[in-house]
Amino acid sequence: MKIIMLGAPGAGKGTQAKMIADKYQIPHISTGDIFRANIKNGTELGQKAKTYMDQGLLVPDELVVDLVVDRVKQDDCANGYVLDGFPRTIPQAESLDAALAKFEDTIDYAINVEVPDENIVRRMSGRRACVACGATYHIVHIPTKVEGICDRCGKELILRDDDKPETVQKRLGVYHEQTQPLIDYYTNKGCLVEVDGTKDMNEVFSDIVDILSK
Ligand code: ADP
Ligand code: ADP
Ligand code: ZN
Repeated sequence: MKIIMLGAPGAGKGTQAKMIADKYQIPHISTGDIFRANIKNGTELGQKAKTYMDQGLLVPDELVVDLVVDRVKQDDCANGYVLDGFPRTIPQAESLDAALAKFEDTIDYAINVEVPDENIVRRMSGRRACVACGATYHIVHIPTKVEGICDRCGKELILRDDDKPETVQKRLGVYHEQTQPLIDYYTNKGCLVEVDGTKDMNEVFSDIVDILSK
């Protein structure tokens, strides 16, 4: 099963992608996590990406497309994968489709997690992330057992630099301009499905499982 998560920053794509990956035993590929790991390790890619991420802008297509296309060709992706945060532009989607078409392959589902902009800023200010394992929490909605410590791996949680309200506003603008057109793109391909992302995270997940089991 090859799945793409679509939705605004903070819609809950990462949260749902991890649950899907666990249930269906397929890799969760988050481009944001890949960039953050590169920043943490001080790689050249990380340094380049950081200048864009800090401003709430998208990293240029040429820095992300090959990375993802190479990743989905790896053996552990043979039974599928869930892409989280990619594609984010029409050229990225076209490059992915072209790469898959070489193997007569296509995306099965593009899941659009719908959350209105008003809810997003509130969600993001409460987001806490684990850079060690990629887990995400919310101080009110999805708290950890011990404040500030990852339930999964025990490392310290951070408030992401790009989750400040000004940067979130910027990212929402970028989303509407550059990423939202993908909803029409995947509707035209016949693989778009939508879920109401304002529900509780377990309800959202059960709606997704219903769709994937049909
Ligand atoms: P969120 O989950 O809040 O939407 P991500 O972790 O997916 O945020 O992405 C964080 C940042 O990383 C983005 O704002 C952008 O700068 C960069 N990024 C991640 N994926 C992509 C992509 N596919 N294309 C361009 N930039 C990306
Ligand atoms: P995205 O990957 O789309 O940027 P995340 O999965 O990181 O979004 O979720 C953004 C924030 O909202 C996180 O703090 C997360 O814990 C929280 N969150 C995720 N799903 C829900 C939900 N259904 N209800 C309330 N908060 C949620
Ligand atoms: Zn962790």
